[in-house]
Amino acid sequence: MRCEIIAVGTELLMGQTTNTNARDIARELLSLGVGVYYQTVVGDNEERLAEVVKRAMERVDLIILSGGLGPTNDDLTRETVARVLGISLEKNEEWEKRLLEFFSRFKRPFAQNNLRQAMVPQGALMLPNDRGTAPGIYLEKGKNIFVLLPGPPKEMLPILKEQVIPLLKQKLKASGKLSVLQSRVLHVIGLGESNLVEMLKGILDNQDNPTIAPLAKGAEVHLRLTARGHFPGEAQALLSQKAAEIKAILGDYVYGEDTDTLELAVARQLKAAGKTLALAESCTGGLLTHRLTNIPGSSEFLLSGLVTYSNEAKITLLGVDPAVISAKGAVSAETAAEMAAGARRATGADISLGITGIAGPGGETPQKPVGLTYISLEAENFSLTRKYQFWGSRVEIKERATQTALYLLRRFLLNKLSAS
Ligand code: ATP
Repeated sequence: MRCEIIAVGTELLMGQTTNTNARDIARELLSLGVGVYYQTVVGDNEERLAEVVKRAMERVDLIILSGGLGPTNDDLTRETVARVLGISLEKNEEWEKRLLEFFSRFKRPFAQNNLRQAMVPQGALMLPNDRGTAPGIYLEKGKNIFVLLPGPPKEMLPILKEQVIPLLKQKLKASGKLSVLQSRVLHVIGLGESNLVEMLKGILDNQDNPTIAPLAKGAEVHLRLTARGHFPGEAQALLSQKAAEIKAILGDYVYGEDTDTLELAVARQLKAAGKTLALAESCTGGLLTHRLTNIPGSSEFLLSGLVTYSNEAKITLLGVDPAVISAKGAVSAETAAEMAAGARRATGADISLGITGIAGPGGETPQKPVGLTYISLEAENFSLTRKYQFWGSRVEIKERATQTALYLLRRFLLNKLSAS
């Protein structure tokens, strides 16, 4: 079954309301294995809505519309769909009674145009709305199924979950077409999107079920695998099998799945190795410490996170040699190395990291542009300092610097880093 979601509302086109309904409907349909092929947004305009509905009828089976079911003149969905299908509207006595009761119970004046909400196309099923005055509508016509849902998410979602999904499920089951779609996301670090695509060429060129889509995500690449099965276990087995094939090729470049973060992966490594960590941050302003302390139980491995922003702080708190700062500058490989060494010396941690850089937008010189960052890692008999040139806004540079520091730490704990 192929689906198109049509969200109706000029406020959506103008960017005043985010189209969360399309997202939520698409997510719910995954559980039925229904593929959403198109999502369309159209304003409160009868002619254009009719055009969009006609096009959807040609290219999909299931058409789900949200919005435009209210009582006012710009709520046109019910009437437009009926007109396109050549079906007349008829009064649903049950809903008319509910509307009249509702208005008298809450002592609200009853405007006649409220009765429009009790009109449903002939032969359609009315889907009661416990949280609002406009019911949903389910209608089959030829090869198409139409579902009309109210716009407000708190009304739309319960009708979808409690009535539409079970109805569609029943229908798909009866025709032997019921399946489920399940996704898994693999998180890759240290490989660009094009390198990754090259490494996985064989798998990507022959993908079928699961389908695989790479997506650049900041300093990472995410691989979304989507499998179709007759039941969730079958789809999950297909996902596990394909994930294992991909991991066999990409190896340690895959650090986690789904909700995993790089800091979580590194925290797991530190705990497994029983190693402790100390951080000395300058341009990242404590962001690395923040990310690692978001992990419950981080006190097991993190001994300290010191933000030494001024030269004075680097000298007095970390023991950085003032002569090094004078000769090489606060943003230099030597200062980063001394920061890492100072953090380790002060805490006795097994591993330490020092980060110093120019987050911008000011503070650059011809020799030291914005984004220039040095990251140093020190451990017993090991010391490594790397120079990076990050780009982006101040916040993005801080984010990239911490991501890279975590990546270095990950490689070190995997024994894949050689000392400089
Ligand atoms: P009502 O009875 O409230 O008029 P309706 O079915 O006519 O319901 P609309 O008038 O189109 O719905 O939208 C009502 C409100 O619901 C909008 O102002 C907006 O806040 C929200 N809404 C509408 N469509 C969406 C959507 N696609 N995603 C998220 N919110 C939406």
